[in-house]
This record gives sequence, structure tokens and C-alpha cells, in this order.
Amino acid sequence: MEIRDRYAPSPTGLQHIGGLRTALFNYLFARSAGGTFILRLEDTDRTRYDPAYEQNLYDTFAWLGLAWDEGPRRGGPSAPYVQSERTGLYRKYAEELLEKGGAYRCFCTGERLERVRAEREAARSAETGYDRRCRGLGPEESARRAAAGEGFTIRLRIPLEEEPGGGGGPRVTRFTDKLLGDIEWKNADINPDPVLLKSDGFPTYHLANVVDDHLMGITHVLRAQEWLSSTPLHVILYRAFGWEPPVFCHLPMVMGQDGKKLSKRHGATSIDEFRRAGYLPEALLNYVALLGCSYEEGRDLYSLAELEARFSLDRLNKAPAVFDYKKLEWYNGQYIRMKNSEELAALSLPYAVEGGLFGGGEPGEEQRALYTAAMGLVRERANLLPDIPAKLGYLFSDPAVPPGGELIPKKGGAEGALRSLRLARELIPLLAAADDEEAERLVKERAEGVKLGDFLMPLRAALTGARVSPPLFGSIRLLGARRCLTRIDAALAALEASR
Ligand code: GLU
Repeated sequence: MEIRDRYAPSPTGLQHIGGLRTALFNYLFARSAGGTFILRLEDTDRTRYDPAYEQNLYDTFAWLGLAWDEGPRRGGPSAPYVQSERTGLYRKYAEELLEKGGAYRCFCTGERLERVRAEREAARSAETGYDRRCRGLGPEESARRAAAGEGFTIRLRIPLEEEPGGGGGPRVTRFTDKLLGDIEWKNADINPDPVLLKSDGFPTYHLANVVDDHLMGITHVLRAQEWLSSTPLHVILYRAFGWEPPVFCHLPMVMGQDGKKLSKRHGATSIDEFRRAGYLPEALLNYVALLGCSYEEGRDLYSLAELEARFSLDRLNKAPAVFDYKKLEWYNGQYIRMKNSEELAALSLPYAVEGGLFGGGEPGEEQRALYTAAMGLVRERANLLPDIPAKLGYLFSDPAVPPGGELIPKKGGAEGALRSLRLARELIPLLAAADDEEAERLVKERAEGVKLGDFLMPLRAALTGARVSPPLFGSIRLLGARRCLTRIDAALAALEASR
């Protein structure tokens, strides 16, 4: 059997971690099985639709490098893949169900439904939802009222009568979830006769979703666990049409570290926020692929191709997944380390420009070359892209001369710092031309009796303006002897003046 699955977002918000997890698992499942991954836009809720959210969906997929096999902007045998372009179909199927008796017309007005709701609330009734008033209308009366122009919705008739040969128990709907096992719902507990087709002729989620999954040949529905309560209803709908339901697999919840459903309270959730904060798509994909699925023991890093080869529904966990921001940051650091200098410079450059690293504009050719060369100094130390330019300010403009305290190591006092800096001054032309090993040897040889750290501290402060910086010898090489000497001289002058 060819596997066909789908990601079916409603463009009513920005793409977020939960959506990405659903999309990615569907993508990986299809790829792992040589199947087809479909993107379908469920945009029937026109009040909450916003074209910006639709664009955000496409942009997010493009940034992540996830492609769909069939869907909007790509086409396929079941086109169109945008529900608002398929409304005629849903009407046709709702009418078919009406014919078959699996659905009925409801003429209740919005005011009546509101009144029932309010009355029940006042009476603290346990009953919620529709009171099924129109369920008993005979087909002739129903057809007559519709023909006379009365407005109506079409509702699903949830079977309530006893199962033929069912032994008198309450009517139930059963299905098997691939992850959660056998599930059974009392029909009386299912949303009472939900609307399938609204009075404006637009379908509700339930109708459009089931009709499309059927027409698009979807074999597996992998979706978030919050949809589990809709599934009995969908199963009833499939049976009412006489269709075979797909395999359902409700994915484990994604929680924050406090055990509550991941939300804005925990931090960034939209993919846009992560992108802007300097996360790499590879890191996000790798981390999100682990939210509720285990691959091999003892391994953290997987490329998309490796995930595609390994994914399997048998590897899903039942337990909720915990989203750990620190862990994601660690993953990002790992992917930053895998980039070569050109790639890393290109990726982090927008943050450098935005942060004013090049004096408020784009870098000139020389600055760009220096920036690229500096990647080797920061690659091992950055977890997010903006960390990179944040560490490199001293390469592009002279730092303020640090206050005396910053230049003076604990041992040796101002005199010691002066001695170190004077010696460093002599060594700079050699250090600027030496590799790390050679530089260290030179310093050890010449700074006899002074601990390496105590010797380097004033030099580091003079050259970078701070006590903590990217590797010093590499920085000296990139700055070049002339700029180093100017900065050392400024520090020497400050120290002397403060004596
Ligand atoms: N449109 C629904 C959503 O926004 C689809 C749920 C499903 O996969 O059935 O997630």
C-alpha cells in the first residue's frame, strides 16, 4: 500500500513548534516509507484567515527546506489543495449524506441556539451543545422548508439508537489509534450532532477534513493529541459515507518543563521567533524530530536524510515530550560548529549589520574578509547566530581603553601590568606572524617568571577591551601588528597616567 499522509494547517496563526512537529513527523513518515507527503490548507474559517499566515506557512517550509509532494503551489492529482477552493465538493457530499440519512437539515436560528445555551447555563445543566431539536423532522417537511427558502445548516446524525444485536448497551464508537491503542467513546458523549455544512454553504472542519482525507487517498492521519476528541466523530462520518477510515495516530503532547502544554508562557513558540533569534533550520528540525520519537540510543545529531531513513511509527513514545529550550540551544551550537567559515559568515552577517558591527552599514570588501576570517575564533563559542558578531566588536573598531582595574592582574599590580604590556609590545610583530603553538612558545620563553595568564591578561584587555574574549593569538593575527601596537600604546599611556 502506498503511504499517503498530510499536514493540514489552518492559516489562522503563525507556524509554531507544535505544527512543525506534526508537519515533520508526517514528512518523515512519508519519506521513510517511500510515500507521498501532502500539504493541504484548511482555510474554511474565513473570519480567522489571514493571507499573512498563509505566506508564513510557505516561508517557514522554504526556510526549513521541507518540500511537499502534492499541495498548494505545486499541484497534484487531487488539486486544488486549498479548501476554500473546494467548497462545491463539500456541499455535494453533505447533500449525499442527507440523502443517505446520515445527516439532517437543522433550521434552528442562531438566536434559538444561543437561548438554549443560556437557559442551560442558568439551570446549571450538564447538557451542552445542540439539543437535537431538528433531528426528528421528517424528510418531506425538511425538503419543503428548504425549498421555501428557510435557512439551514446540515448536521451529522450521531447514531444513538441501540446497535443492532448490541445487547442493549449504550451505542459506542470504536477505533484503534496506532499509538494509543483501542479507543472507545460512548456516542452520547460525542459533540451532539455537530454542524457539517454552515448556513452560508461553507463546511466545518469535520466535514472538509474527512472528505478531503478520503478524496486525497490519505492512508495515515498523524496529528496532535488535541484532535483525539474529534476522531470518534470523524469515524462516524466515514462510516456514514461508507468509506474506510485511515489509520489514526495521535502524536504525544509537547509540554513545557512545568508539564503544561507548550505555550507563549514558556518562551518563543513561533518558528519565526526562533529564526530571528539565530537558530539554524537543521538544529530546529533535528530537535523537533526528537519530540516524542526515539531513534538510536546514544546519539543526538541526525541530518534530515538520516531521520528520513530511521523514522517509524513504532519509535513513537506515548509519554508527552518536554520542550527544553536549553537543549535546543545546545543543538544549535552543534550545527554552528559544523559550518565552514564562509557559510557561518553568510548566516550571521545580517545580525552583524543589524548590530552595527561595520559602523552602521554593510561591510566593505576588507571588512567582509576579516569577518569571514574571524569565524574560526568564535565557531566553538557561539550557540546562536547573533552571539557571533557580539563577540567580534573589537576587530572592527578600537575598543575604549579599559579602566586600570581591568588591565591589572591580581598579582603584580600596576607595575606588573606595565612590564607585561611593554614586553608584549616587543613581541607583537612576532606574534602577529606566528601560529598558536609558536606564539605560546615565544611568550613562555620571553615572559619568564610570569604566569602565562598574568602576562596575557593585560594584553587581552588592551587589545579587545575586555577580560574575556575570543582566542588572543588568533585575534592578534587578525588585527595585525600595527593596530595591536596602537592599542597597547593607549593602554600603556592610561596605566602610566593613573600611577
Ligand atoms: N486544520 C487542522 C489543524 O489546524 C487539522 C487537524 C488534522 O490534522 O486533522 O491542525
